[in-house]
Amino acid sequence: MRVVLLGPPGAGKGTQAAKLSKAFGIPPVATGDIFRANIREGTELGILAKEYIDRGDLVPDEVVIAMVMDRLGADDSADGFLLDGFPRTVGQAEALDKRLHQARDQHPLDAALNFEITEREQFKRLLSRAEREHRSDDSEEIIRHRLEVYHAKTKPLVDYYASRGMLVPVNGMGSIDEVSGRIMASLSERVDPPAQART
Ligand code: AMP
Repeated sequence: MRVVLLGPPGAGKGTQAAKLSKAFGIPPVATGDIFRANIREGTELGILAKEYIDRGDLVPDEVVIAMVMDRLGADDSADGFLLDGFPRTVGQAEALDKRLHQARDQHPLDAALNFEITEREQFKRLLSRAEREHRSDDSEEIIRHRLEVYHAKTKPLVDYYASRGMLVPVNGMGSIDEVSGRIMASLSERVDPPAQART
């Protein structure tokens, strides 16, 4: 199964990617987590990305695209992946399409899950995450900027995937289990159920 998780910061993409990963046995590929690991390790990529991340801006397309294409080449993503936080621009979405089209099995994306939550709920979740995880980009001012960036650069992907028949809207309000129940129900119309659920 090849799925993209779309939606504004704080919509619950990472939480649901972890659950889907367990259920389907495919890896979550979270670009934000990869950047943060690189920042912790002090790599060249981390040093470059930190500047953008701390401001709440997007890391340039060519940097993110190269990193994700490299990651998707790893053996564990051969049978599928859950992309969390990528693509975030139309340029990134086009690069992903091109890559999947060129891949040996030419297996396209199965779905782009679009998490929908109110702005009030986003702020609530992001501010409480800042207290728990001390993320450098979860301060109120930077959150506001990240939401502006989301609207300007990432939201156009909703139309991009809708026009390709891949968009699956997900009501992201409510408990973690409520949301994952909705996702499973929507996905069941598009993909085979997870192995342990098959009879
Ligand atoms: P996230 O953990 O997904 O909220 O990502 C944290 C930050 O990493 C973002 O605010 C961006 O600065 C950067 N980032 C993550 N994914 C991407 C991407 N696909 N394109 C550009 N920047 C990204």
